[in-house]
Amino acid sequence: MVFDEDDLGTLLHALHFAAEKHQNQRRKGANAPPYINHLIHVATILWQSGGVRDIPTLIAAVLHDILEDTPTTSAELEKHFGAEVMGLVQEVTDDKSLPKEVRKQLQIDHAPHLSPKAKLIKLADKIDNVTDVIHNPPADWPHARLVAYVNWAEAVVAGLGRVNPGLEARYKATLKEARRVLQWGKVE
Ligand code: ZN
Repeated sequence: MVFDEDDLGTLLHALHFAAEKHQNQRRKGANAPPYINHLIHVATILWQSGGVRDIPTLIAAVLHDILEDTPTTSAELEKHFGAEVMGLVQEVTDDKSLPKEVRKQLQIDHAPHLSPKAKLIKLADKIDNVTDVIHNPPADWPHARLVAYVNWAEAVVAGLGRVNPGLEARYKATLKEARRVLQWGKVE
């Protein structure tokens, strides 16, 4: 496969941009990995399991938490990465002015109405988050909270409907692994 040089350059720019913006953030996992790991994983899941080759989708995946978790503005995103990427990131951004439980419910409510590209990012994000809950959970989360998290992710994913066969298969395998590791629910 031959890549467009401009596309590759923009993707590298997005990785650098995200690494700088999230540089002081760590994931919640017990070994507190750098936040950028999650962003690279989500884009890699799209590429490897979803076969996604759409550049705006991959770039938006790298930037998907930037509006929610850093002071970056939509205008800044549009200036550097264009209107489509900005719009995709906005679609997968929670309104942080709302209480956490409301935001979680809104993710479930909004899932069916996301654009097809935003659904891809949302599913890859949930795959990585559930994988973290299985293999590197936050040290202070009791079992019930881990189970509740996976159940909530499951409700969001159910709302996405049909997204992409490769990603759906990977999500299903991840969920099965979560049930096995957390010893909860039926294991198919
Ligand atoms: Zn994320």
